[in-house]
Amino acid sequence: MTVVVLALDALDAGLVEHFGVTDFELETSQQIKTFSHSRDNPYTPEVWATVATGLGPEEHSITGSGTSEWNNPVLELASQFTGRLNESTRGTLGRFVRDQTGEREQIGETDAKSIFDREGAVVHNWPGVHNGSDLQQAWDLMNAVAEGKPKHEFEQELLGLGAQQFGWAREMLNHDVALAGVHVHTLDAAGHAYAEDEESLRRIYKRVGEFVNGLVQILGPDDDLLLLSDHGMCTSFYPETDEGGSPGGHSWRAYASSTIDSVPSDVFYVADWIDEHVTHRVTTGEQLNIDKEHLRNLGYI
Ligand SMILES: [Zn+2]
Repeated sequence: MTVVVLALDALDAGLVEHFGVTDFELETSQQIKTFSHSRDNPYTPEVWATVATGLGPEEHSITGSGTSEWNNPVLELASQFTGRLNESTRGTLGRFVRDQTGEREQIGETDAKSIFDREGAVVHNWPGVHNGSDLQQAWDLMNAVAEGKPKHEFEQELLGLGAQQFGWAREMLNHDVALAGVHVHTLDAAGHAYAEDEESLRRIYKRVGEFVNGLVQILGPDDDLLLLSDHGMCTSFYPETDEGGSPGGHSWRAYASSTIDSVPSDVFYVADWIDEHVTHRVTTGEQLNIDKEHLRNLGYI
């Protein structure tokens, strides 16, 4: 049996309802509590590292005070306002971002023990924990939008990347995997770009909902799915009622949904939830026996 954890960045509890995308509403679903640490609103790397470790930013050390690309205030600004700028301002801002950032830095990874440090656990990419390159690709797309990349190209590449991540999760169900985790940045990038474009964001929500449904359809009787977000997205068409966030900023409406009768009620409780629901299994598989001489002759090694 496999538990799949989908880290759906910026999946907004209010927008799920507003758009009526029931694919996200599994057996149990609700808005969950998230937090902010270095910013006024929840901040992606801090929250995902907390989800994976159960620790606060001071303990897992992935915070907004470091030097990774995430922490660049120019990029943060660009991602927040991309969807609201006219064409020429976007181009200027895009160049500004590129000039100011120069060489890109690696995205930080925590040394703290995470939910993926267990036998039978695999992780594809997860901010603050493992492999930041997928997130960097999503960031590149955001910057390209800021420079005026056409909408259809943005969506094709963004959903293409998301489809790869969902494809990986689907494949893990065919293997001896106890826990599979993957972070998907599609809804965050689309949310920033379409904070004032209701129909476009609805379309992306529906598409990602179809990805979720495709995964649910192939779950075995003993497999389970937990999907989570780190925060939601403030938009012009679904206004905040309690905090007055501006469109393109992160909202507090984080969300969780699972195929069983419970979800963690707080991003700090996810690690405990995983401990409770992932069963430990030890299997000894058949060893692969590859002829090294053959590989050498082919020039592979
Ligand atoms: Zn996020």
